Amino acid sequence: MKPAQFDYVAAQSPDDVVAALADGTTHVLAGGQSLVLEMNFRSVRPRRLVDINGVAGFGDIALDPAVLRVGPLVRHRAFESDAVPGPLGVLLRRVAHHIAHPPIRARGTMAGSLAYAHPAAEWPALAAALDAEIELRGPGGSRVVRAGEFFTGPFRTARRPDELLAEVRLPLLPAGTAVGFVEHRRTRASFAQLAALAAVTVADGRVVAASVGLVNAADRPVRATAAEAALIGRALDDDAIAEAARAAARDDADPGPQPYADIAYQRHAVAVLTRRALTQARDGA
Ligand SMILES: Cc1cc2nc3c(=O)[nH]c(=O)nc-3n(C[C@H](O)[C@H](O)[C@H](O)COP(=O)(O)OP(=O)(O)OC[C@H]3O[C@@H](n4cnc5c(N)ncnc54)[C@H](O)[C@@H]3O)c2cc1C
Repeated sequence: MKPAQFDYVAAQSPDDVVAALADGTTHVLAGGQSLVLEMNFRSVRPRRLVDINGVAGFGDIALDPAVLRVGPLVRHRAFESDAVPGPLGVLLRRVAHHIAHPPIRARGTMAGSLAYAHPAAEWPALAAALDAEIELRGPGGSRVVRAGEFFTGPFRTARRPDELLAEVRLPLLPAGTAVGFVEHRRTRASFAQLAALAAVTVADGRVVAASVGLVNAADRPVRATAAEAALIGRALDDDAIAEAARAAARDDADPGPQPYADIAYQRHAVAVLTRRALTQARDGA
C-alpha cells in the first residue's frame, strides 16, 4: 500500500524544524525506517512531514569530558565503528550490531528509535540503563528529560507533538567498566524477543557502579534497579550475578502476554539473559 497524501517540508536549519512542528500535527522524518512503514500501512497518517536529513550538524557526535552528545540524525551504523572510545564505545558497538540489518542501520537513527519507543528496541533500554538525558526543543525553548521519565508506555514518550528530540546525552563509562550485551531474537534481522545489557565498574574487588537494562521485558524499556542493587558492594562472582539475575526477573521485569511465551517463561528468560550479560561483562567475552 502507498501512504495517504501528505505535505512535505525539507528543513535546512533547527529553527526550520521547530517552526514546522509548531502546528502540533507535523511529524519528523529522520531515517524513515519506522515512520514510512507505518505510513504505508496507513496506521499513521501525518498531514505533513518535516524532513531533517538536510540539517547541517544533526548527524554529529560530540565527546565532552563526561558525556557523549548524539545529534538527531546520527544513524545506528555510526556506533558500529570505533568512533566512541572506551567502555561506552564497546557497549554501543555491541548493541548497534543487533539492530535490524545493515541497510536499516545505515538509515535509522538513535534519536528516531527513542522517539518511536518500540518496547523491543535496543537504544531505549540502553538510554534507560545509563540514565541518558534527552533534550527536547519546542516553540518555548529546550527542556531536558531523563530517560527514566521519557518512556511512558509502548510507543509513548514524554515528547510533545511540537517538540524535536534534539540531542541524546549518554554518560561516558569510567575506564575499567566492563560491559555485556546478550539478545535473543527469532532471525538475525528480527526485533529482540528479549535482551539484557550490563555495565559494571569494579574497584578494589567490589562493584561500585552498575547499570543493567532490559529490552522487551515490559511495556517500556527497563532499568533493572533491583539487579543493580544486588551487585553494589559485592565481588562480581557467580553468586552475586545469580542474585542480580533473580532480582531482574522477579522485581524489574514486568512482561505482558506474548504469542511465543507465557509470563513465567519470560521471567525465566530475563534471569538467563541477565546472568549471561553480567557474565560476559565480567569475563570480557
Ligand atoms: C525490518 C525492520 C527491522 C527492524 N529491526 C529493529 C531492531 O531490531 N531494533 C530496533 O531498535 N529497531 C528496529 N527497526 C526500527 C529501526 O531501528 C528504526 O530506524 C527506528 O525505530 C526509528 O528510527 P528512524 O530514524 O528510522 O525514525 P523514523 O522512522 O524517521 O521516525 C520514527 C518516529 O519517530 C519520530 N522521530 C524521529 N526522529 C525524531 C526526532 N529527532 N524528534 C522527534 N521525533 C522524531 C518520527 O516522527 C516517527 O514518529 C527495524 C525496522 C525495520 C523496518
